[in-house]
Amino acid sequence: MSAVSKMKKELLSDPVFSMAAEQFDRVADVLELDEELRDRCKWPKRISTVACPIRRDNGTVETFFGHRVQHHLSRGPTKGGLRYHPKVSVGEVAALAMWMNWKCALAGLPYGGGKGGIQCDPTMMSIGEQERLTRRFTMEMIPFIGVEVDVMAPDMGTNEQTMAWILDTYSTHAGHLVPGIVTGKPVDLQGTEGRTEATGRGVGFLVYRMLDKLNIRCSEATAVIQGFGNVGRHAAITLANYGVKVIGISDVRGAVWNDKGLSVEDLCKHVDSHGSVVGFPESESIDPEEMLIQLCDVLVPAAVDMVIHKGNAAELKCRLLAEAANGPTTPEADRIIEERGDITIIPDILCNSGGVIVSYFEWVQNLQRFNWSRAEVIAKLETQLEHSLERVLQVQKRRGLTPRVAATALGVEETAKAKSKRGLFP
Ligand code: NAD
Repeated sequence: MSAVSKMKKELLSDPVFSMAAEQFDRVADVLELDEELRDRCKWPKRISTVACPIRRDNGTVETFFGHRVQHHLSRGPTKGGLRYHPKVSVGEVAALAMWMNWKCALAGLPYGGGKGGIQCDPTMMSIGEQERLTRRFTMEMIPFIGVEVDVMAPDMGTNEQTMAWILDTYSTHAGHLVPGIVTGKPVDLQGTEGRTEATGRGVGFLVYRMLDKLNIRCSEATAVIQGFGNVGRHAAITLANYGVKVIGISDVRGAVWNDKGLSVEDLCKHVDSHGSVVGFPESESIDPEEMLIQLCDVLVPAAVDMVIHKGNAAELKCRLLAEAANGPTTPEADRIIEERGDITIIPDILCNSGGVIVSYFEWVQNLQRFNWSRAEVIAKLETQLEHSLERVLQVQKRRGLTPRVAATALGVEETAKAKSKRGLFP
């Protein structure tokens, strides 16, 4: 077996990558991509793994492994989050980079997809340890990143403080402030208004638009949300602002339920002081797995991947599945949902694209030394999301595709066009 096919086999042995690859293959068939272009669009351009030794607070030295995958650079710099989670693997990061790639192309952003991850548990690390790890990872990555090469953003387990450390490390090395090296940074460091809540706000906006198309009034709709981090929280706030009754919310520690609707505002305060939704007074506890299959209009997975699978897809009782997380639905579950025909999916690469769209706005402001107001950012975000949604719905209808295949086809087609027009070097 050649070294190249060994690499492919290794990536495909990861369940998350194999899921992304299966989605890609289905779309490549629809687009009738020839074998050569298919290969060029499917496999990541660069995979870097670095060892990051840091001193723990107890004086010992521990080495963590960090990965960065740049799916392709044909349409501009790669763009994508950095994840800190115990289950991070090269295959998962490569899958997330591939999804980012289609997401950026679908939204018409001049980026390829990238993603990074460090296998660690940030909940078991002090702030000082997280800072040392982030700075060390950034130093190791300096040859491979740059404002025109690869731009990171927050993802699971990271936040605007993580971005501030990356910016500081990179800028100290460069000898001047380089704000465009990351997005999702604090507004005080030339971050943009509206970025923190952009992903969740975008999820809420798209749900609102789809409910309207399904003739369901927001004021009569109920929602269940898995995950109450950055994305889940802001999706809940936005949905509640549209008048949707949020009846169930979970996080890694448990789930809470209230048929009459949870007060999202009070729940946010509870989580800020207790670190979890668990124990929220105006609710009863519910098994987090059971929560996913309760009757509701909108189900929003906003945590980890592969949570809608062949074991629960047939049991879902929602009308709309809004994929706020990346890769929450397995291909088997997709097939079951397709056969059922009674659930509409807003696929992840559309549903959570608000984050990268506002990241792009942040990057553009950094390059041009502009500051847009919050109202400008939100208005531009909603215009862009509406445009992406209409494109997906049109292609879905015209070609008789599922929303996921339609959205992915739009993304893959853009990438394939760029690659074939640029030609092959040398
Ligand atoms: P986060 O770290 O801020 O929050 C994650 C939340 O999920 C936490 O509430 C955690 O307790 C919960 N969680 C973790 N494992 C869980 C489990 N097994 N069951 C239930 N809850 C669980 O992360 P985030 O930034 O909100 O990201 C969530 C998802 O959204 C990820 O899939 C991420 O890739 C995706 N996403 C994030 C952004 C962004 O801007 N942050 C953009 C696009 C997509």
